[in-house]
Amino acid sequence: MSKELADLLMPNVKYNVEYYENLYKPRNLNEGEVIVRFAPSPTGFIHMGSLYTALINRIVADTKGGKFLLRIEDTDQKRQVENGVGQIVEAFNDYGLKIDEGMIGENEEIGEYGPYKQSERKEIYEAYVKWFIEIGKAYPCFCTEQDLNDIREEQTKLKCRTGYYRSFAKCRSLTFEEIKAKVEAGEPYIIRFKSNGNYEKKIKYKDIVRGQIEFPENDQDIIILKSDGLPTYHFAHIIDDHLMQTTHVIRSEEWISSVPLHLQLFAEAGFKAPKYAHVSAVMKEENGNKRKLSKRKDPEAASSYYVEQGIPVLAVKEYLYNIINSNFEDWRRQNPDKNLSEFPFSFNKMSASGALFDHVKLIDICKNVISRMSAKEVYDLGLEWAKVYDKDLAQLMEKYSEFTINLLNIERTGKKIRKDIAKWSDLRETLEYMYDEVFYEKYLEYGYQNITDKKDIENILNKYIEIYDENDDKDTWFNKMKEMAGELGYAKEVKAYKENPDMYKGHIGDVSMVIRVALTTKQNTPDLYELLKNLGKGKIQKRFDKAIASL
Ligand code: GLU
Repeated sequence: MSKELADLLMPNVKYNVEYYENLYKPRNLNEGEVIVRFAPSPTGFIHMGSLYTALINRIVADTKGGKFLLRIEDTDQKRQVENGVGQIVEAFNDYGLKIDEGMIGENEEIGEYGPYKQSERKEIYEAYVKWFIEIGKAYPCFCTEQDLNDIREEQTKLKCRTGYYRSFAKCRSLTFEEIKAKVEAGEPYIIRFKSNGNYEKKIKYKDIVRGQIEFPENDQDIIILKSDGLPTYHFAHIIDDHLMQTTHVIRSEEWISSVPLHLQLFAEAGFKAPKYAHVSAVMKEENGNKRKLSKRKDPEAASSYYVEQGIPVLAVKEYLYNIINSNFEDWRRQNPDKNLSEFPFSFNKMSASGALFDHVKLIDICKNVISRMSAKEVYDLGLEWAKVYDKDLAQLMEKYSEFTINLLNIERTGKKIRKDIAKWSDLRETLEYMYDEVFYEKYLEYGYQNITDKKDIENILNKYIEIYDENDDKDTWFNKMKEMAGELGYAKEVKAYKENPDMYKGHIGDVSMVIRVALTTKQNTPDLYELLKNLGKGKIQKRFDKAIASL
């Protein structure tokens, strides 16, 4: 009767399952190679947690060899947004996550195991649903909303678990004739899985991240084909990961309770089940409590936030590595110059208890990551960002490209490497006062700190421009400044001043501060010697004139 039933319910299915089983050739993986996949819904929002999961999948494929697939799970048509797939692919590009197989654009894909968008796989699912009916593992359900409510009420009254199972599964026992009559009468239906599971029994399985786990068997007759003709997530997962020959399903922990059902479906279909790794949600600490990073409450939950803020993607990745493997920090300390791809990832070092996202730490990592870049890299990446998010700055950076790279090169080598840039949006503050266009317009307030007398300041500046020589090396330059300070009644050494403060008007630090502020209006800047040299005597003179005029 099952064959008859299958033909009655699904007369127009194009191909049978043999067709698909033959269509997709075995992958013939080498020993230890993996097929992993990231399978998001295209909802127009890429959560940091998703990026975290995707990155783990990518790392696993990289370290073990094999392939990383991007499959789009769009069977819930209500949640779709325009260009949802394109946005995911774009985020992958932003974060340098290579897609070996699957969707690579809104409607573009690569690979021989597709289509990789579930809405395009309707015929495939139909073949397998029909087959499930044929082999007696699925049946039609005609229950209305009202029927389901009635069942729930009865269960509540009887203090039973809710759901569609065993004796509560009304349509499970319909005869062929009853079904036929209903179909002919045009009653709408969906298709359910016929579960043989026993809730009293336990299934055990070994999660790669969480270890041995025990759950009750699944006895729910879950829906596998919805009224819109598309499968549910659970059924699509089984069929897709079977046909795509996924070896490891690495996904968010929210799916862990579905494992009994998934393993059952794989077993009932006679398919080999993949291994599962359920990774923690990304958490945030708030008022001493941990909670999930929330799309609604936390702007930093969106992966696009980091790109917009100009946080280098390399730093975000580096940060994610920190929360992926507990030994990463030590590894980084021992290997400060190594590439992330050289990190020996291990499932054993993954925490099962919530990956904590700490913004302060991220910023710290950003500073380190940028400090390891060359001036040219900082320039290129910063400019790329500025071209989209700070066009005026981008223009200046391009107009004065060599000058800018030289500025960015200050304190980039040697013992004390600068760590003042955490994100590309910091570049404006770091650079703009050095561009005359901005400096003369916007930098109008001077705060000279200890030396406040106008005459003294004017004196220092006038004297300094006389002795300044662009060709002096750093020692000569500093010695000259000291000499000048001495002549004007300031201590040449801070120590001497501290010992006899009454003997001096101030010390060398106060004098160099006057020069720094007159030059930039700022009390904190990178190395003064380098700033002066980059501006050159003509520009210094002009800046001093402006400073004196504003006294
Ligand atoms: N579409 C599911 C999600 O977005 C995929 C879960 C899985 O990887 O199996 O969470």
